Amino acid sequence: MPDLGIDKSSEKSYNFNIEKARSDAKTLLSNCPETKCSKIMSEQLNEATFELDLKMGDPFSISRKTGAIHYNPSHEDFYKFDHSVAILHETAHRADIFLYHAAENDEFSQAVLDSVVHTNRDSIVNAYIKSSPEIQRNSYLSDILSAVTENDERIPFIASHENKYLLEEGNRESEIFADLFTIESMSETEVIDFLKNTLPDLYASFLRLL
Ligand SMILES: [Zn+2]
Repeated sequence: MPDLGIDKSSEKSYNFNIEKARSDAKTLLSNCPETKCSKIMSEQLNEATFELDLKMGDPFSISRKTGAIHYNPSHEDFYKFDHSVAILHETAHRADIFLYHAAENDEFSQAVLDSVVHTNRDSIVNAYIKSSPEIQRNSYLSDILSAVTENDERIPFIASHENKYLLEEGNRESEIFADLFTIESMSETEVIDFLKNTLPDLYASFLRLL
């Protein structure tokens, strides 16, 4: 093959523009009512730095050391994602890293553990299966239930993390916090009501962290 001069290290070769993705995420957020959480999310989104990382095993991730959002357009799942949805999730991680430290908060960590160990999994699964399409289309809620039910096979998750990853120290707390923070900052009232009904102690503990 002749060298065609395509720079594989640049995002241009993947037809992806991170600044457009950031501005789409801002638009999504600006369509939501302004609250304390949405303001913080908006500030974090403005301050976020992005790093192209073609070697990582995920389409998006965050560096817990620097708070930079890493993205990998060469990942096979990258274009399956709604990039605004993914960027808001990573931005919520950034808020956690710089402001909230959810995994180090004893009360929140205990509430997360209790939500896995002590809640009635059948009742959560049944409530979810019977819930509205709007609830079932919410990626953040799907990801929370993936963590809380340890990927219960009866739920058709649209976003999830593997159990192996969730069991590593602090990961379950961080993922649940990021998802709750995004839901709260977007004022997803139907999803918030679902969470308050099915996981009331977890939601109350999250609100106390803010
Ligand atoms: Zn995450």
